[in-house]
Amino acid sequence: MPELPEVEVTRRGIDEPLRGAQVLAVRLGKALRWGLGVAPEALVGARVLPVQRRGKYLWLPLLGGCGGGLLLHLGMSGSLALHAVAPPPGAHDHFDLVTSQGTLRLTDPRRFGAVVWSPSTVDAPAATLLATLGAEPFDEALTPASFHAALQRHRAPIKAMLLSGRIVVGAGNIYACEALHAAAIHPATPCRRIGPVRAARLLQALRETLAQAIELGGSTLRDFRDAHGMDGAFQQHARVYGRAGEACPRCGAAVRRIVQAQRATYYCAACQRP
Ligand SMILES: [Zn+2]
Repeated sequence: MPELPEVEVTRRGIDEPLRGAQVLAVRLGKALRWGLGVAPEALVGARVLPVQRRGKYLWLPLLGGCGGGLLLHLGMSGSLALHAVAPPPGAHDHFDLVTSQGTLRLTDPRRFGAVVWSPSTVDAPAATLLATLGAEPFDEALTPASFHAALQRHRAPIKAMLLSGRIVVGAGNIYACEALHAAAIHPATPCRRIGPVRAARLLQALRETLAQAIELGGSTLRDFRDAHGMDGAFQQHARVYGRAGEACPRCGAAVRRIVQAQRATYYCAACQRP
């Protein structure tokens, strides 16, 4: 599943090449998770402004035409590619934004992804979809103190809370496991038991983990069609994720695997404290 680092790498890959591009045509394939919400012809003539990201959503603001912008989500299996000249669409290509600077194509075999037009990010439907997202991990407004204060309001296990994205977005399963290991916090620890020092350590660890993944993705992904290449590349650098039975790189004890909320959790019982 594309996670935040992959979406950010995708954003960086398409932002500059698409800047100022004029929409020439829109082609829709099979139905995605949500409908476009506007007649495709209404987008023609609009220009693409700098691409933004919020959580795992990309926002392509449009100037002219119907205005507003396009909110994109890659769902479970989606990937975006920018083609100078797009080949004929395949069975899993469900959206083409044909522009004066290339064709942005969404390929999504499972079709949980979506492209939705919205007047802005603070109006429906975009506002509704973005409403439940926690803070951006690199937002300076998210401080160790505010993160700690948010944790104090929850008794759920920290791993589940990270995965939910309700306090901070971006901690997919691999990244949550790695950040908790780096911060030496047991994944089942109730959020409210995490004190200010450990909260600060966890926020720092999450930021470093995500930054490393983004950096790795930028250098690993040659093209953006490879939706699963990045998790795999990061996994080779993982210290606990996928390493049950191997030695913890910090203390040498065996890494354990448990299942929390139907997701595999990898951790070290010796050095990650509850
Ligand atoms: Zn350990």
